[in-house]
Amino acid sequence: MSQSLQNIEARISELRRQIEFHNYRYYVLDDPVISDEEYDRLFRELLNLEETHPEFASPDSPTRRVGGEAQEKFNKVAHHAPMLSLANAFSEEEVWAFYRRISNLIETKQIDFITELKIDGVAVALTYQDGSLVRGATRGNGLVGEDVTLNLRTIRSIPLRLRQEEARPRLVEIRGEAYLPVSAFNRINEERARRQETLFANPRNAAAGALRQLDPRITASRPLAFFAYAVGHVEGRPFETQKEILESLSRWGFMVNPFYRHHTDVESVIAYCREWAGKRDSLDYQIDGVVIKVDRLKDQELLGYVSREPRWAIAYKFPSQVATTRLLQIGINVGRTGALNPYAVLQPVEVGGVTIQLATLHNEDDIRRKDIREGDTVIVKRAGDVIPQVVGPVREQRTGDEREFRYPHLCPVCNSAVVREAGEAMAYCSNRACPAQRLEWLKHFVSREAMDIRGLGPQTLQKLLELQLIEDPADLYSLTEKEISQLPGFKEKSTQNLLRGIQESKLQPPEKVLFALGIRHVGESIACMLVDNFAGIDALANAREEEISAVQGIGPEIARSVVGYFAIEENRRLAEKLRTAGLRFASSQKARPPGPLSGKSFVITGRLPTLSRKEAADLIESHGGKVVASVSAKTNYLLLGEEPGSKYEKARKLGIAMITEKELRALLERGTP
Ligand code: NAD
Repeated sequence: MSQSLQNIEARISELRRQIEFHNYRYYVLDDPVISDEEYDRLFRELLNLEETHPEFASPDSPTRRVGGEAQEKFNKVAHHAPMLSLANAFSEEEVWAFYRRISNLIETKQIDFITELKIDGVAVALTYQDGSLVRGATRGNGLVGEDVTLNLRTIRSIPLRLRQEEARPRLVEIRGEAYLPVSAFNRINEERARRQETLFANPRNAAAGALRQLDPRITASRPLAFFAYAVGHVEGRPFETQKEILESLSRWGFMVNPFYRHHTDVESVIAYCREWAGKRDSLDYQIDGVVIKVDRLKDQELLGYVSREPRWAIAYKFPSQVATTRLLQIGINVGRTGALNPYAVLQPVEVGGVTIQLATLHNEDDIRRKDIREGDTVIVKRAGDVIPQVVGPVREQRTGDEREFRYPHLCPVCNSAVVREAGEAMAYCSNRACPAQRLEWLKHFVSREAMDIRGLGPQTLQKLLELQLIEDPADLYSLTEKEISQLPGFKEKSTQNLLRGIQESKLQPPEKVLFALGIRHVGESIACMLVDNFAGIDALANAREEEISAVQGIGPEIARSVVGYFAIEENRRLAEKLRTAGLRFASSQKARPPGPLSGKSFVITGRLPTLSRKEAADLIESHGGKVVASVSAKTNYLLLGEEPGSKYEKARKLGIAMITEKELRALLERGTP
């Protein structure tokens, strides 16, 4: 054998060894040590080498097998039909290639598809005999899984009996994904951190761990949920399309993910993949891609299977949002409240198509709890627009050269003492005039969510401070044309624009003004609640702690912080200065006309057939109703349009009535809700 062939053979066996190891960590221990993207890269490399060198193929190769072996501690059960994996497409080009491949095989270009979200959970098979759940199993190696019936019975979205709206077959095996909602995952990890237990790397691992508990009470304590997406085996109920299957599953009483879509061409399939890659973070469950399935079962049959996957489906994988890299150093930023925010300087790494070098580390306790050290290999995560986070260290990869981080005793910007009050998670710079604090404070004040002053970036603010043209945010309102035109880059037009921006910001409602003050713990929604309850900022500034904490949703910590803020003379002076400048302190509650919707609150989600959101809100308000931004137990109706967002999920969980635009109009005509 030539040298290069020997090298290839060696690489193949090295890859197989590595993949076997990672399969074991992932499927058996539920504790992976590399990201899925890295795993997929290794897997791809092996697939390619095996394809170009069939002489080294082996039936034992991990490329031929599904998942991992069943764990000893559970009874093993054979599936009615194999539970397979899915081939992956990592780009749109690969989706096209999939389409070309299958359309050649079945000799038609006219293929209908169903796209479904690829839920990142654990595949399970549920067997129903005469309508009753008799068995639930994990996928295991695809042929033999683990019997986890008792654990699956604790999941409330799994019906113990099939509903009779759809004829119940004598025997049916339903497949779907058991998953842990992201909100529950975060809660569980916080609790584990508090108890100094190892954290779960992601909701999938937490779900897999929960399903494989010997004590079902532990499973029940983790609020798993289930989406059904396939029928593995059925007696006496023929189906023609995947769409029909999904509809039957729904009628049998399963939760079917509401976002599936039918397509008659591949362009629209690709548009769906793109759309969901962009809004994957809007859901309360993790999805790692889109599953593209040929809709007609006749076509599926023609296409058949290759060793570990069906030929009639493919998983389009989103670029992964988790990666591992080295943490080079821990730095400290001083925030607007003087908080010392630690951040990680990383060896640059690509996460979800973006190269990241910095990630947040939350606070000192978090670093200690997770035992993150400089020099560690760490798992980093990017979620939507949120700043990347360090999930935790990969302890197995420690060399012993890692350094524990010591928090500074002096502010890294102004050298003043750092204080950390008992019970507070953050440490603060004690110098209220610290230049870093001042700049961050101003940045917050002018930000879009606060006073929304356009054309006033960090550099301009820095310059205004340096030239001593401003000391606090209220000084912005007395800036003159002459002063602004001295700033670098400010010509006549930009000066006028900035002046106009400053003037216009005076129209911002009082809740924005309150938020802009930057009181600790008073975020955007808290500011709204407070202003709503106190009809503005003045009464709030004079309220007692008990009065503030009596407002629903406001805890004692927030109340203390608000009272503490207004107890400081300097803060009161600033508030006065802002009022004199013309900012709005009192809310001019629009009196709502009485009407058929009086006393009813609405949340709007999705695309409505004829109305824009603004028009729908006007319609509701003109009939006495109220439109609020987010769903809570107090919401009366969810006005539901096409492709709803996460509000739909939340409303469904809370059992809130849902109505369509048509129903809303009918209700207004009837005159009573
Ligand atoms: P897969 O997760 O890529 O795809 C198949 C699975 O998709 C099914 O078994 C099912 O559980 C799931 N699924 C979700 N929604 C679905 C839907 N609507 N319709 C059909 N199926 C749906 O394949 P796999 O074999 O389960 O796992 C392989 C993947 O797991 C790898 O690509 C890698 O990302 C990850 N992995 C990672 C490591 C690691 O160490 N990080 C190790 C092993 C595997």
